Amino acid sequence: MKKLIKNGTIVTAADEYKADVLIENGKVSAIGHDLTKHADEVMDAAGLYLFPGGVDPHTHLDMPFGGTVTADDYETGTIAAAYGGTTTVLDFCLTNKGEPLKDAIKEWHEKAKGKAVIDYGFHLMISEVNQEVLNELPSIIDEEGITSFKVFMAYKNVFQADDGVLFQTLLTAKEHGALVMVHAENGDVIDYLVNKALKEGNTDPIYHALTRPPEVEAEATGRAAHLTGLAESQLYVVHVTCSDAAEKIAEARRKGYQVWGETCQQYLVLDQNDLAKPHFEGAKYACSPPLRESRHQEELWKALKMGHLHTIGSDQCSFNFKGQKELGKGDFSKIPNGMPTIEDRFSIIFSEGVKKGRITINEFVDLVSTRAAKLFGMFPEKGTIAVGSDADIVIFDPNIERTISADTHHMNVDYNPFEGLKITGEPVSVLSRGEFVIRDKKFVGKPGSGQYLKRQRYYSPLKIKETIFR
Ligand SMILES: [Zn+2]
Repeated sequence: MKKLIKNGTIVTAADEYKADVLIENGKVSAIGHDLTKHADEVMDAAGLYLFPGGVDPHTHLDMPFGGTVTADDYETGTIAAAYGGTTTVLDFCLTNKGEPLKDAIKEWHEKAKGKAVIDYGFHLMISEVNQEVLNELPSIIDEEGITSFKVFMAYKNVFQADDGVLFQTLLTAKEHGALVMVHAENGDVIDYLVNKALKEGNTDPIYHALTRPPEVEAEATGRAAHLTGLAESQLYVVHVTCSDAAEKIAEARRKGYQVWGETCQQYLVLDQNDLAKPHFEGAKYACSPPLRESRHQEELWKALKMGHLHTIGSDQCSFNFKGQKELGKGDFSKIPNGMPTIEDRFSIIFSEGVKKGRITINEFVDLVSTRAAKLFGMFPEKGTIAVGSDADIVIFDPNIERTISADTHHMNVDYNPFEGLKITGEPVSVLSRGEFVIRDKKFVGKPGSGQYLKRQRYYSPLKIKETIFR
């Protein structure tokens, strides 16, 4: 089965040009002008962009949290992602202390099996480091192709690991070619501030933001960056929300440390005032780290433009307002943290970034697809349109205007944090490995068709000398 997409404008992180794309056996087999080879199906994409499928490096699907489970699982979550132009997700596999890591990975495979409609991989959470864990990690990299580990510096008494665990994870990652990811907030200070607020009777959602100020994020970001420098390892800071933390990453990079930063579209278009909405509606916007004062938005765009931040993840983690977010009524610390964001990441960044002149169209592709594919060992199969790459292609109309709403979104959740946001540009059709998942804005994929991705090791561009720590 050969497909030919004619007359589209191909955009990668490096180029923008008009050409035809031939697809065979799930791969791009030829790119050129006036391709006339026999194809079983020919599509005309005149006036449309052909982007590499979006790579979302940060999702939480079917994840237990705070006594409940996210509203979207691998089926509804990946369908919504596909509608939005995302063809690869990297989801966080949570682990339990004292239990084999492989058991947790098996559980995550079960969650995805028969459900995912696009390709997916896992990051592995590291909550403790002991001999068993150290013995298991090399085989997880080899056999499972999981080449990124996540350490939480926050969520005291739940997910939080101490600095010793972070440092040993950095050393192990360096040795075996993995990338360490951190949720960078000072969990001990947050724990104190949260308890103090509650004791003083401050229980509304806005206190979720006020008890996790930018300083606790910046402090943890700087601490993790310093430990990375000391270990001569590599670090990826997830969901950077504020200029204070972005500056810590810039500072580390000026020293030559391999520190990368991700932000999310919600931190670029929403702000702390949303948490102050009346009738407990602020709870819809509770995520960690929290939304910030609006002045941080332009600072984050600048950091993306200047190369201090490198990717956009969605941090999809959906809970219904009714029955789930409501668990935090009368106590903001019990609001399940997270927002439904997987669907419109691609279009929001195109609209707010490219259309508003903040980033170029090539920078856009790099931020929503290419860079994450490279950092997480999936390039060039993912993250670009090139001969030999997977035919994950978004056929995108850059001129459609629409308004985001829970009435029309495809996530399995009762609100949309971007409700009412007017954006320009929308995926018309989306292919995963050469097969349509979305065709003319309708889902035509099949649950279970998404494939698990074994990923390559983190490639270190620097030859690193031996350290005394190993
Ligand atoms: Zn997250």
